[in-house]
Amino acid sequence: MATSAYRGRFAPSPTGPLHLGSLCAALASFLDARAACGEWLLRIEDIDPPREQPGASERIVASLHAHALRWDGDIVFQSRRHAAYAEVVARLLASGHAFHCNCSRKDLHQNRGRHRAACTHPATPPPGASAVRLRAAATRYRFDDLILGSVTLPIPAGDDDFVIRRRDGLYAYQLAVVVDDAWQGITHVVRGRDLLDSTPHQVLLHELLGAPPRFAHLPLLVNAAGDKLSKQNHAPAIDDTQASANLLFCLRALGQPVPPREQHHDCEALLRWAIAHWDRARVPHVDLGVP
Ligand code: GLU
Repeated sequence: MATSAYRGRFAPSPTGPLHLGSLCAALASFLDARAACGEWLLRIEDIDPPREQPGASERIVASLHAHALRWDGDIVFQSRRHAAYAEVVARLLASGHAFHCNCSRKDLHQNRGRHRAACTHPATPPPGASAVRLRAAATRYRFDDLILGSVTLPIPAGDDDFVIRRRDGLYAYQLAVVVDDAWQGITHVVRGRDLLDSTPHQVLLHELLGAPPRFAHLPLLVNAAGDKLSKQNHAPAIDDTQASANLLFCLRALGQPVPPREQHHDCEALLRWAIAHWDRARVPHVDLGVP
């Protein structure tokens, strides 16, 4: 795929409809891309069928339409990209960067989360189901986040040689997200801070496949108990009939100014104004409570 100077994306997993937290991530990645005259792509990360909710992809797409968040090009569905993931896994195995691991849950538990040392040797798959792990080259990673500044994060013990293809044959999020960000020429990843801990793994994989994109991690919306608004916490789905009010809520949550009142009811006008006034430096660093 061709690359442009700035190429961003929104990459939801269809585990449920959008809620205000995921709408904020969609809006911030959209505004950051459009303010830089860049492209903004939509990728549906449907690689984990047991976690998906029927109809969620369609609802997400409908919500983005309702909020006038228009993407460039065709939607990429990860469920159609298995051949590309298989090719990268084979390449990483052949180059010695990855290895097969047939540890059971019990083995991992007995070894405090880490695979047995014997696993790091087999180049050929052991009999039975096996996972594939990436050999971690470091125990901590430093990167410059466009919102948070310099971030140093450990790759936790037990997660250092991390899974890129699961024992059940499904590809891991860490692998699929990096293969696709590299393939789509993504230059900027703007997303929620819940994914910050995944970033060291992804930087490592990106370095093996090409150059990492720039990362910008957004504050999370948290409920009164301090838990992230998420599908798991039953955050309510956004109401598409209140699209402009939802966008105004997200703009305020992202620390951005809002347009004059007469532009409050038209999503297109609201977004045009928000693009012209987007300032990444105003995005708060702390998570935000919602009533
Ligand atoms: N698919 C992931 C999610 O919905 C997000 C991936 C990303 O933005 O890197 O949590």
